[in-house]
Amino acid sequence: MEISVVVPLKNEEESLPELAAWIDRVCQNANLTYEIVMVDDGSNDTSWKIIEELHASNNRVRGIKFRRNYGKSAALHTAFQVVQGDVVITMDADLQDSPDEIPALYKMIKEEGYDLVSGWKKKRYDPISKTLPTKLFNAATRWMSGIQLHDFNCGLKAYRLDVVKAIEVYGEMHRYIPVIAKWAGFPRIGEKVVEHRSRKYGSTKYGGWDRFINGPLDLMSISFVGKFGKRPMHFFGMLGMLSFFIGFCILLYLSISKTLFQEYGIADRPLFYFGILALIIGSQLFLTGFIAELINRNSSIRNNYLIEKEI
Ligand code: UDP
Ligand code: MG
Repeated sequence: MEISVVVPLKNEEESLPELAAWIDRVCQNANLTYEIVMVDDGSNDTSWKIIEELHASNNRVRGIKFRRNYGKSAALHTAFQVVQGDVVITMDADLQDSPDEIPALYKMIKEEGYDLVSGWKKKRYDPISKTLPTKLFNAATRWMSGIQLHDFNCGLKAYRLDVVKAIEVYGEMHRYIPVIAKWAGFPRIGEKVVEHRSRKYGSTKYGGWDRFINGPLDLMSISFVGKFGKRPMHFFGMLGMLSFFIGFCILLYLSISKTLFQEYGIADRPLFYFGILALIIGSQLFLTGFIAELINRNSSIRNNYLIEKEI
């Protein structure tokens, strides 16, 4: 099989038949063998029923139904475990991404040797409340990761099969897949300008104010995990050593000045408390480092999702 199209969706009943027909048309015309994996991420409309109908009329359409809503990252991760196509293409269900881009994306992976190609919605059809935060987000992510993409969060992306099998997407990390891929050892990341359309049916699932808090937090944890995920002690140990050393020096200085110059009681000096505090924080950081290392040794519980049905 040449292409797997992965579609995470929540409450997109109106779009699905049109999307499936469109993908089918494009792939047939380009002579590409394909499958579509639709992941129903806890919809409470008739999305799953529609997926079942689409599957009945075209067995290239597969479906996975989550028991509840786990989020887009979970949906992508679960689909990545079952896909089989040489090139995996992810696409939003709301018809904002155009299936017409599939053949060109396929070609970039197959012939130009990219590990990952990310879509770039150069001209966006979204309200300014979405486009402005996105600009900030992209600038911060570029700066932090060193990957020169204009549009990290574009739902339309193409991957070589072994890339999706190797990376782990969890939490809200779907926004940072290029960063995760780079750190996993897939540095050839390309970009393609793609056509973007305004939402035809339904409404956005990512319009809330919590994006402004969660986005920066995710960026911090992704860069932390990327740098120190496999060796947390290097992070905590370094800070702990620094803090411990500062505390030690302060207390040493206080003890010496007390013995040599018979100063008044060292407990009267504010510096004394600072020294003690630094010592305690230092040892706490060390302990945190050890605990992080222990957790690291047996952490495989991140991606556990209850699947209700699979077709
Ligand atoms: N989505 C999902 N789970 C969620 C939220 C969204 O699978 O919890 C899907 C949604 O159905 C759509 C895609 O993720 O196919 C992108 O969501 P949306 O279009 O609402 O985001 P926007 O384009 O507004 O950023
Ligand atoms: Mg959308």
